[in-house]
Amino acid sequence: MSPPVAAATLCVDGVLLDGEPVGLRTAAGEIVELGQDVAPRAGDRVIDGRGLGAVPGLVNAHTHAAMTLFRGYADDLPLTEWLEQHIWPAEARLEADDVYWGTRLACVEMIRTGTTRFLDMYWHPEATARAALDAGLRGVIGTPLIDLGDPERAGRVRAAALESTALVEDLANERIEPSLTPHAIYTVSEQSLRWVAEQSAARDLIVQIHLSETAREVDDCLATHGVRPAQYLDRVGLLGERTVLAHCVHVDDSELDLIAERGATIATNPAANMKLAVGGAFPYAAARARNVRLGLGTDGPGSNNSLDLLADAKLFALLQKHASADAAAAPAHEVWRLATGARSPLLAGRNMLAAGTPADFLLVRTDSPELSLGDLEAGLIYAASGSVVDTTVVAGQVLMSGGIVEGEAEIVAMARERAARLGVARSTRRAP
Ligand SMILES: [Zn+2]
Repeated sequence: MSPPVAAATLCVDGVLLDGEPVGLRTAAGEIVELGQDVAPRAGDRVIDGRGLGAVPGLVNAHTHAAMTLFRGYADDLPLTEWLEQHIWPAEARLEADDVYWGTRLACVEMIRTGTTRFLDMYWHPEATARAALDAGLRGVIGTPLIDLGDPERAGRVRAAALESTALVEDLANERIEPSLTPHAIYTVSEQSLRWVAEQSAARDLIVQIHLSETAREVDDCLATHGVRPAQYLDRVGLLGERTVLAHCVHVDDSELDLIAERGATIATNPAANMKLAVGGAFPYAAARARNVRLGLGTDGPGSNNSLDLLADAKLFALLQKHASADAAAAPAHEVWRLATGARSPLLAGRNMLAAGTPADFLLVRTDSPELSLGDLEAGLIYAASGSVVDTTVVAGQVLMSGGIVEGEAEIVAMARERAARLGVARSTRRAP
């Protein structure tokens, strides 16, 4: 299967934008014309936009895409037991082709549900990068760095991290960006965290790390380092504008002050947090009051189990309202900006479609029952699921049109074959 080929130019004709029918033309990966007078030109691939609305693509700020392979395997267990007794032993058997096909499956789901860029942390990152590239999505991709405080292992995993960034860079595609991804403060030594900070600064690489997912992590950090997790991360030089902090459920006001001051981005993952019962909700009101940079993630499909970011957007809004006993918390407009990456410059930094911006956008079915009445953003957050996405375009390439992603059947078959090889495929036997 070859990567999707971009038409040199594309024109979406008569699509709704902010309630008005417009023409939208792209060339060389960018939106070049947008407005009521814009019409198709000779040579354009033309998409009939009637009955559709143009909106920006969604940005999944934290995932482990290839964990589609582990979907429905060892559900309903506490986080530590799930990881240590089930996921990590299965991951020890992973080969690059498992990751490639698991990620291709994830990419089909993300394309179908409107995600155009994802931030990923997983094994065999060069396979993830190839899969994202072949699927046509944008990805920020790194390999989990875990040394468990062992100096010999630290040497090996640092070398592996550099090798994987080089392999991702070798793909030489502007849609794919390498990243450094230390797993968490409790699995990576202080020396290696400092090393990551130096490498990130020297090479301008995005860093992704899990932080304060559980109360136990906070207690252990206080006992071991005498400070809370965000303060510890700051002490080792890792709390900066290039850093994405996944979770931050158990951060206090002093940590949010520091995160805001340093310009780090928090990726909140409401579905995974609730499914793994981490005992709390991300303190959104406090983060919002401090203008903390924010994004929305699904976390891995082994712990969500969906990659439909619109589902997470609704869950985020509902969890925040419920936890704060305030129906005005997390209004739809704010959550829509969160889901499109508009609330952090590391993610997208904007959610406007305009001439001169990358041609990453969705055409959603505004004639569908979920979106046919009322405010579009409220409809997308509260009423719709990813099934309202008709067309997904990244860098001017049409990755899905009319709800069809090319090659889907082959990708599903290959992912099933790889899951069977790993011994994690769905059992055909009935439960006793
Ligand atoms: Zn994660």
